[in-house]
Amino acid sequence: MNEPAATDHNGAGDPRADFPLLAREVHGKPLIYFDNANTAQKPRVVIEAVDRFYRHSNANVSRAVHTLGEEATSLYEGARDALARFVNAGSREEIVLTSGTTQAINLVAYSHLLPQLRPGDAIVTTCMEHHANIVPWQLVAARAGAIVKAAPIHADGTLDVDAFVALLTPEVRLAAVTHVSNVLGTINPVAQLAREARRRGIVLLVDGSQAAPHLPIDVRAIGCDFYAWTGHKLFGPTGTGALWARHELLQAMPPFFGGGEMIREVRFEGTTFADPPHRFEAGTPNIAGFVGLAAAIDYVQRVGLPRIGAIERDLLAHATEALQAVPGLRIFGTAPDKAAVISFLIDGVHAHDLATLLDHEGIAVRSGHHCAHPLMRFFGVPATLRASLAFYNTHEEIERFVSAIARVRRLLG
Ligand code: PLP
Repeated sequence: MNEPAATDHNGAGDPRADFPLLAREVHGKPLIYFDNANTAQKPRVVIEAVDRFYRHSNANVSRAVHTLGEEATSLYEGARDALARFVNAGSREEIVLTSGTTQAINLVAYSHLLPQLRPGDAIVTTCMEHHANIVPWQLVAARAGAIVKAAPIHADGTLDVDAFVALLTPEVRLAAVTHVSNVLGTINPVAQLAREARRRGIVLLVDGSQAAPHLPIDVRAIGCDFYAWTGHKLFGPTGTGALWARHELLQAMPPFFGGGEMIREVRFEGTTFADPPHRFEAGTPNIAGFVGLAAAIDYVQRVGLPRIGAIERDLLAHATEALQAVPGLRIFGTAPDKAAVISFLIDGVHAHDLATLLDHEGIAVRSGHHCAHPLMRFFGVPATLRASLAFYNTHEEIERFVSAIARVRRLLG
């Protein structure tokens, strides 16, 4: 039998062959990995880049003039360039390297927002957010006597844009919205929301965690002020991510973490700080992780986000149609514009039971609240199952998944 050919330098070929883990078995069955919104698998080029860094170039960044120190610094700063190009940032100085979206949003909450937040101020978000785009705002609001308001959604999982805009009143200091919902797959009209926020002088943060692996991102075309995303969902290592921010906003932000690498001069009478983005990168970063993330971005760009999007749309249409044919199965989130994420429940079947039985078939899906309690409350359910697809998934896997669900449903129903 011919082995499928991995993608070449132009991104052509079978992407599946690029991901070593996809070849393994679970409980004696070929793995079907449908938990990509949780974390994505890593292509060989990423694994090799991390391995090569530790074998060949490992040193700390910016602290040494020796060859290895310079190599490590140039690889780390090269990741910043790759991330800047990835979102079409105005300059590399607009990219803060973080441990992920969570750290990026907390940085904005504590460094940008908290110093200017006053009692009676408000922060607007939506009820489809991940907890990472809710809780940091609540924490700083509580310190300042401000409040967090959430825009509602429609029954199909689309944002109620009119209600969102109506919440953008003069006491609002910041609005925060996800680009793509991690539970519903809904793609929000972020450029429209950014226009509405800007017209009212309100800063907009977009959580791009679930968008970056699926859609081309252009922060300047979106017109937002902050854009946060995470590396491990983008086929890169865990513990990596980035915050893009307009340069003038970063310039005005005080440091959040203090330590090495973020200072100009330290004196007991008073310390001065480095310019952004280094002002926000205290301590030794995840250097190998960013080397891997740069390789992941290069890989994604070779395969091409338009091609990735086309494959995923096809898989999503297939999976949605096949699941809808399963009696008693309800899908949460049917927005016309959505990413390949399908949340669902089957009448009378507990989400965790179904996920456990699917695991025995070698199928990895997530069950639970997906860090979105308010959204679960909106739908009146404690949990859902979520199948989240990537471009390396196949139609055959969808067929196996849907027949396993039908079998398990007969067993449990
Ligand atoms: N926002 C969304 C929409 C997410 O899906 C996730 C992760 O699931 C996060 C934020 C948090 O990302 P991280 O844990 O990588 O910081």
